[in-house]
Amino acid sequence: MDFDEPAAATSLKEELSTFIEREIEPLEEEHAQFLGPDAERYIFDENFEQVPEYLDLKETIRKRAAEAGFWGMSMPESVGGRGVDTLTAAIVSEFLENRSPGFHTYAVQGAGGGPTPILLACDDNQRAEYLDPLMAGEKTTCFALTEPDHGSDANFLETTAEKDGDEWVIEGEKSWISNGPYADFAMVFARTSGAPGEVGGISCFLVDADTPGFEVGDIHRPMGHAWVAPSKLRFDDCRVTDDDLLGEEGAGFYQAMDWIGNARLNVAAGCVGSAQFLVEKALDYAERRETFGKPLVERQGISFPLAEVATDVERTRQLYRFAAWKTDEGRDARKEIAMAKLSAANLENRAADVAMQVHGGSGYSRREPIEERYRTSRGKRLTEGTDEMQKQTIVRELRD
Ligand SMILES: Cc1cc2nc3c(=O)[nH]c(=O)nc-3n(C[C@H](O)[C@H](O)[C@H](O)COP(=O)(O)OP(=O)(O)OC[C@H]3O[C@@H](n4cnc5c(N)ncnc54)[C@H](O)[C@@H]3O)c2cc1C
Repeated sequence: MDFDEPAAATSLKEELSTFIEREIEPLEEEHAQFLGPDAERYIFDENFEQVPEYLDLKETIRKRAAEAGFWGMSMPESVGGRGVDTLTAAIVSEFLENRSPGFHTYAVQGAGGGPTPILLACDDNQRAEYLDPLMAGEKTTCFALTEPDHGSDANFLETTAEKDGDEWVIEGEKSWISNGPYADFAMVFARTSGAPGEVGGISCFLVDADTPGFEVGDIHRPMGHAWVAPSKLRFDDCRVTDDDLLGEEGAGFYQAMDWIGNARLNVAAGCVGSAQFLVEKALDYAERRETFGKPLVERQGISFPLAEVATDVERTRQLYRFAAWKTDEGRDARKEIAMAKLSAANLENRAADVAMQVHGGSGYSRREPIEERYRTSRGKRLTEGTDEMQKQTIVRELRD
């Protein structure tokens, strides 16, 4: 058994570090207001829309990352990616979250608007219109599955696409769609046949943002993750054609589920990196801060919770890496992926809580990254499948 990090992952992290230092950090310094304690005041206007300067900045980052080969790096080389395997991509996610908040995560992961393997089902025309510009950082997209009345039970979705001559007419509403207001096109999941709950019969359409009948609805005000800008999307007599159908009719949900395992693994790995970052910050503070004449770290009440979180970081790191390794081996890793996502999201929440407690009042300040992690980590127990949905998967796999 080899527990060493794969050499390819180590060298990719080094390459990424150089890229971040040269191409991203100068932008972070130049636009420090978008990362500071009052970031949200600068990122959004009074309607909670992202301001043009912020949108331009994201475009610059995308294009730099695309040029350097980091944007869409997990996509196969045949479409302009690097074909980075699951384990390496996850290790990179851990690395990206194990540092102060910045634009580096956007440069690789795209905050819900970047390339996704679902689009590997594109035909040649769709590839030229959607996938190629997406890979080049010229366009962004969004993944429109969740609806106001259906999230965990997305296979019960109520958005429909019905055939009318040569056209498909999409009717319905989507909710909490990251990058919804800014996507050039949406991947929209709609029922084309079958009954509520049936997984077959859900199709995915590529819908341009300027298609008549497609409208951006309310922009949500999330507790954390504000930069992903989730919003509602409305479809009212929105007409598309067979050319806009992604892959086979009725295969949309399967396409989405094929991709979600890797997305969950990246979330899990990111949570591990973030938890490590929080432990290190808290330890550093506990060594420097003295109360009653002694450094905090010498009090078991402070050091033992850190030891417990650090233990859990190591355990969860091995779990997500095992799940990623199984995936790369072509073995069924559904149970391990669900376990990793469940454990890691809860771990990051606990790490943020412990780090804040160790820091006392200063951890509660917006000038420290801890409160941002405290808010953002809470969302990770909800997105890419809630805790309960991960448990449901684990039990199903145990019973199989
Ligand atoms: C910041 C953010 C970004 C998002 N981005 C996207 C996006 O880009 N695209 C997209 O499609 N969606 C997105 N979502 C939506 C997200 O996927 C859903 O919020 C999530 O799937 C949960 O669905 P829900 O909110 O409808 O909760 P519900 O499904 O209504 O669940 C409510 C609660 O009940 C629990 N529950 C539900 N069913 C059961 C059951 N059978 N047994 C036990 N407990 C159960 C759930 O776990 C949860 O705790 C985003 C959400 C957030 C917060």
